[in-house]
Amino acid sequence: MGIHCKLCFLASLLFVIHAGPILKSADDYGVAKNYLMSFYNLVYKPPSPASREPDLLPAKLKEMQKFFGLKVTGTLDKETMAVMKKPRCGVPDVAAYSTIGGKPKWKTNKLTYRIMNYTPDMSNAEVDGTIAKALQVWANVTPLRFTRIYKGTADIVISFATKDHSDGQPFDGPKGVLAHAFPPGIGLGGDAHFDDDESFTFRSRDIVLFLVAAHEFGHSLGLAHSDVPGALMFPTYTFTNPDRFSLSSDDIEGIQSLYGSNRAALAASTTRSCPNLVWDAVTTFKGVTVFFKDSSFWNSSSSRNNSIKRFWSNAPDKIDAAYEDPVQDKVFFFKGKQVWAFNGKIFSPALLNLSAALVCQHL
Ligand SMILES: [Zn+2]
Ligand SMILES: [Zn+2]
Repeated sequence: MGIHCKLCFLASLLFVIHAGPILKSADDYGVAKNYLMSFYNLVYKPPSPASREPDLLPAKLKEMQKFFGLKVTGTLDKETMAVMKKPRCGVPDVAAYSTIGGKPKWKTNKLTYRIMNYTPDMSNAEVDGTIAKALQVWANVTPLRFTRIYKGTADIVISFATKDHSDGQPFDGPKGVLAHAFPPGIGLGGDAHFDDDESFTFRSRDIVLFLVAAHEFGHSLGLAHSDVPGALMFPTYTFTNPDRFSLSSDDIEGIQSLYGSNRAALAASTTRSCPNLVWDAVTTFKGVTVFFKDSSFWNSSSSRNNSIKRFWSNAPDKIDAAYEDPVQDKVFFFKGKQVWAFNGKIFSPALLNLSAALVCQHL
């Protein structure tokens, strides 16, 4: 063993001896500093004898540890570093929104969205379906309805971008920050950006776009991060089978505190109140709002349920989401991992309006 290697050995031995529960490598310190600056409003000033400013890092570290339910030590322990290295949302965990004035929310329940571009990781149809399904997550529990537009200014503008993309919040390359979104408002307000240096997927492995999008749309609608583990609005990404996904009660309480429940909206739009009902899917077709439940659908002015299969013979029951592409004149149904595409021409408002009355009567 030459002198050089002996030193190597010694160095690695020293590292092992010192690599206890408290890690203080320069790398980790840098990671922590950037993390706290990005997500906990840390204004970093290096501690120096000349400056009388205290090192704010331990205090911010405690704030972060508290948010994630970690042991509040104020030091860079292993558990804290592990959380900091998890893929996550780019929106801060502190009340960043309070600076733009209270609880921002949309003034209307009818919102538009526009998909500006696509990721090469997935087919365009998969992205379209994923976005529709992710918005449906919120529409299912609120009076909010989302309509896709193809030109003009949408409330929620959706795009894929890398690094600097002209909003002062550059993405960071693979891993780390996956996406960010802006709270309700004009201009960038409501918009959702996805870091295209990630590998997004429809189903499993890599990053499931549906899970990221559903989370970001929570921000687009006015929700901040939740410190409840398992909530969709928790800041870090956790894989969940998208087929078995459901909102946590924390997410539902949050969004209903802003917009009220689905049931209230239906009751308001009809003269009868509906039973405890959660629709499988709601969408607009040919300008008419259509509600899906089990094997049936209703439109907003019809009391009689129509069989889904009568209109679309191969369609499944209990769909997860549906949406219309007026440009292609196609209707898409989503259930689990499958997508059904139907020619939109067979579906006309005339057919829908065969029976006009109240929605909830027959439920
Ligand atoms: Zn977020
Ligand atoms: Zn952005």
